[in-house]
Amino acid sequence: METEADYTIARRRMIAEQLLSRGINDRNILNAFLSVPRHQFVDVAVRSRAYDDCSFPIGYKQTISQPYIIAFMLHALGVTHKDRVLEVGTGSGYQTAILSHLAREIFSIERISSLSKKAEEVLKRIPTGKIRLKTGDGSTGWNCYSPFDRIVVSASMNNRPTKLIEQLSDKGTLIAPITSDAERLVLFRRVGERIVERQLSMCSFVPMRKGVG
Ligand code: SAH
Repeated sequence: METEADYTIARRRMIAEQLLSRGINDRNILNAFLSVPRHQFVDVAVRSRAYDDCSFPIGYKQTISQPYIIAFMLHALGVTHKDRVLEVGTGSGYQTAILSHLAREIFSIERISSLSKKAEEVLKRIPTGKIRLKTGDGSTGWNCYSPFDRIVVSASMNNRPTKLIEQLSDKGTLIAPITSDAERLVLFRRVGERIVERQLSMCSFVPMRKGVG
């Protein structure tokens, strides 16, 4: 049985071995990872391994993302404390909590209502910034709160996320895993009416589904 002190040590080790060693050196991102108790977001059965370099099942065939991939995405996205951020795919709520330490306000959509409720319970118990959750199909965004400065998509899409791009503010950025011939993280940036697209690394995410589960 691990104590909170054990988890703090494991969290520090995760930051050194999985993030810093792979080039994530943004102080705000590292501090956010230091602040969020990942062990609260995983199943009790794997709690002692919560800070390992991997994803874990969270039920409903979904997973909590590997810490490094979250750090990589948020680094590429360039989140600042002034930003209003849309997250598509709340899942466990872990990335939502990390985001809330980096940005002004987080809007997060999850299509599976049980996962959204569970994430809400965990997020209520720990210190976070301003978070608004809802159950729904995030592929169409959250229009009434748009535009967003940053959008992060945590389930892979088959096509360009047109509806989400429409909800980006000027100079806003969006990152999403997109599967065309292969699955790859793609960064979109709005510059006035222009959208600049940049292909990043290969990746592996659960697929995005339509409708509510
Ligand atoms: N960053 C999350 C990742 C969860 S996995 C974490 O670390 O816990 C991706 C999530 O996207 C799953 O929970 C899945 O149910 C959700 N998802 C898939 N399609 C969706 C859609 N159209 N709208 C909202 N959420 C969706």
